[in-house]
Amino acid sequence: MSEETSPLTRLMQAEGFKPFSGPDAFRVLAKAKERLNLEKMEMDDILKAVSSLGSLMETEIALIYALQDQICTRCGWCCTENTSLRVSKDELKNIAAFKKSSYKKLKKRIRARPRKDRTLRVTRHPCPFYEDGCSVYQIRPGVCRSYPTSKILSALAGGGPYPDKCEISDDLLAELVIKRALEEKMSRENPELIKELADKKRDEMGRLSQMTQAQRFQYLVKHHRDRLKQAE
Ligand code: SF4
Ligand code: SF4
Repeated sequence: MSEETSPLTRLMQAEGFKPFSGPDAFRVLAKAKERLNLEKMEMDDILKAVSSLGSLMETEIALIYALQDQICTRCGWCCTENTSLRVSKDELKNIAAFKKSSYKKLKKRIRARPRKDRTLRVTRHPCPFYEDGCSVYQIRPGVCRSYPTSKILSALAGGGPYPDKCEISDDLLAELVIKRALEEKMSRENPELIKELADKKRDEMGRLSQMTQAQRFQYLVKHHRDRLKQAE
């Protein structure tokens, strides 16, 4: 397979594509290099895998979303330093029931203020549910569940700062770099196998086409979680 038609080259040639670059990309590159057998890899594949992170596929987003729960170190930075905890009314009601408190009392205690989008912003800082770890972990709000992947995606799209204070952000992207670099190498060395895998993936996505985007994403996250558990 020629360089011009490799999967990552095609991805990077898509209209509007912006490469992932700068200090964050260098750290991710270093992490990926630490974990790859460099003697067996082409540096160009690894560099391309980093730059191409400017565009992520749905299955890759689902993969890092599933992986973040597994590798989060529970360092607490996002709970003690983050000043923008946003909860829905239902999420807060669930937390109130879990804490055996009333919704009103809890809302007052955590100084939750309504926002225009009908969610609430918790103005008490650090997060009032942080007690040497998250005291509501099983039912933590969606914004907490999606951190840091949601912030990484915004940063890649140019919509916010990269969450570099979270110690797993670089690891999540390094995982994708390794996967992409290995696939790139395989696309040269065994194009038939790559084609077979791509056809299988296309068939599977076709089977999921009846689902809504949210249902499909949930399905993909579960699929990755199950595979990660099996690999443990
Ligand atoms: S900052 Fe990152 S590693 Fe630390 S608790 Fe939050 S998600 Fe986990
Ligand atoms: S609800 Fe839990 S996970 Fe979310 S910020 Fe508070 S302590 Fe952290």
